Amino acid sequence: MTTLRNKSIPQKVSLFIWRTRLKRIPVRVELDKRGVDLDSVLCPLCSDAPESVEHAMFSCAKELWNTVIWVSGYFIWKNRNQKVFAKDSWGAPKILNEIQVKTYEWINNRSKRFNLTWHEWLTNPQVSASHQHTCFDPG
Ligand SMILES: [Zn+2]
Repeated sequence: MTTLRNKSIPQKVSLFIWRTRLKRIPVRVELDKRGVDLDSVLCPLCSDAPESVEHAMFSCAKELWNTVIWVSGYFIWKNRNQKVFAKDSWGAPKILNEIQVKTYEWINNRSKRFNLTWHEWLTNPQVSASHQHTCFDPG
């Protein structure tokens, strides 16, 4: 199994990634397999599917994650072009701020169903979004 080598990722997150790949995070399906008595194995966020590692990490909030990842890529690319063509670089704080602000704006403005507050977006967008029982339409 390959390990993630990225100096920006703290050791505790690397450990989380490693445990996730081995299905060693305490999602309900894995707890059930180990004999833990649970009321339900359904995802506590959406209640639409069993809470497996795949569901918890990828499926449950897939649309939100895809938006964050692609908007991040967009601004990284935009910064690259700024450096190449204007000989200027924004720097990490501005890039991260643009990603945070624009992802929020675009999800709220382009989705017909999401209506997150800025506070929800900053504190826990996945839970806030799943409680609305909606689908994200990137339109
Ligand atoms: Zn879910």
